[in-house]
Amino acid sequence: MQFNFIANAQVPSLSGRTLPVIDPSDGQPYDEIQRSSPADLHDAVGAAQQCLYATWRSTSAVERGRLLYRLSQLVTEHADELAAIEQRDCGKPTRQARADAQALARYFEFYAGAADKLHGETLPYQQGYSVLTWHEPHGVTGHVIPWNYPMQIFGRSVGAALAAGNTCVVKPSEDACLSLLRVAELAAQAGFPAGAINIVTGLGHEVGDALARHPGIDHISFTGSPTVGTLIQQAAAERHCPVTLELGGKSPQILFEDADLDRAIPAVVNAIVQNAGQTCSAGSRLLIAQPIYEDVLARLGKVFESLRVGPAALDLDLGPLIRASQQQRVWDFLSDAQVAGIPMVAQGQIADDAPESGFYQVPTLLRDVPPDHRLAQEEVFGPVLAAMPFRDDEQAVELANATRFGLVAGVWTRDGGRQLRMARAIHSGQVFINNYGAGGGVELPFGGVKSSGYGREKGFEALYGFTTLKTVAIRHD
Ligand code: NAP
Ligand code: MG
Repeated sequence: MQFNFIANAQVPSLSGRTLPVIDPSDGQPYDEIQRSSPADLHDAVGAAQQCLYATWRSTSAVERGRLLYRLSQLVTEHADELAAIEQRDCGKPTRQARADAQALARYFEFYAGAADKLHGETLPYQQGYSVLTWHEPHGVTGHVIPWNYPMQIFGRSVGAALAAGNTCVVKPSEDACLSLLRVAELAAQAGFPAGAINIVTGLGHEVGDALARHPGIDHISFTGSPTVGTLIQQAAAERHCPVTLELGGKSPQILFEDADLDRAIPAVVNAIVQNAGQTCSAGSRLLIAQPIYEDVLARLGKVFESLRVGPAALDLDLGPLIRASQQQRVWDFLSDAQVAGIPMVAQGQIADDAPESGFYQVPTLLRDVPPDHRLAQEEVFGPVLAAMPFRDDEQAVELANATRFGLVAGVWTRDGGRQLRMARAIHSGQVFINNYGAGGGVELPFGGVKSSGYGREKGFEALYGFTTLKTVAIRHD
């Protein structure tokens, strides 16, 4: 049985209700989490406020950084344990679960180093004045975390929020709580004061909604679907609470005829296969220059056929999807593709010993996907790659920008001028040239435009999002 984590203690929900924890590899329940109510959330906010005023506001930036560094070390020491927890809870192949634990440690390490480097300015003003700016914490920050990368998204948002001097209330997805509850214990062990990090588990429309509405939450960081992002934004608007939204994408990988295909093809595959396609920055659209279209599809088809999906512990190319409804969502997209006559180039295979009750989906490569079809417009959040040809640079830009999203884009060309022209013309938060994702890039600001959301997480830039600027004007003539 798992409990909420409030003020450095394990706390049952006030109602005593629980939810099952399901292993996506076999669809079976193996643990329970608390099904919290708004009253539990209220207690967590109280603990965070208490910590903020009693302790955290007077904790120096140097000390906040040291605590984060200690936590980073503890996460590294417990990386295998955390990876094993995440593997079972989320169905992540071993390499992915380990990479997530390492990334969590790296986020805490990065923000440990950044905590005492967030400084304001002195501004030139009229004679007889001195003007200063301070980056002050919002106060209590609320973090609504999705199930696809719980540790990484916790690291990037809670790490930055704590470094900037906030205390945190976290609502993980009901499908992926266990690793974060363990990390909160490690934070207490590292020396974080009671109330600095609080985790309340439960359903999105119950406890997530309560977080968005709670007057004691001074900033909300949300990662998830555009639909829920809108609800969060509406709730926050009632009390003018600032919000950072990361809402996913339909990110294009663009292959020009001069692309280094030996480098591009493995990166294209990885960008849609990683985490079984359940990645906000998945490269889910593939735009290919007409002259190399058939060649690229033939090469990619061979790779797709060799990909294997199976139980997370087997550490194959893909694990299961997170839950049955996500599997159904992918099936619905694929049956729509069939109805529309969209040709399938290749599919991977499910391992023979994968339990029937697991939530498996083979990676699938589709071609000639019409740019206005929902497979080219909407986030599948599964291992489905939609390929389409383009005539020239102009059409490549037009197609790249022709969705409501704008999170990430990959451009593959050796032509330096074209690299920069594309980077300028593509409307997205990140553009990768001759690579995709820069290996995770903890240091690199990340976020979207249009319906991919707004605000930036990761990198030093995230610290500004977790602070508000105060201007202090002193007259001394
Ligand atoms: P979701 O509903 O947006 O869930 C994201 C987070 O919001 C979870 O912690 C969820 O809690 C919470 N939540 C749900 N309803 C809420 C509400 N009314 N108020 C406040 N919080 C709420 O995403 P999902 O249903 O898990 O996945 C649906 C689709 O979202 C996916 O297919 C994918 O397209 C997209 N998605 C994107 C990302 C990303 O990284 N951008 C991540 C996840 C999902 P519960 O899980 O406990 O309900
Ligand atoms: Mg689970």
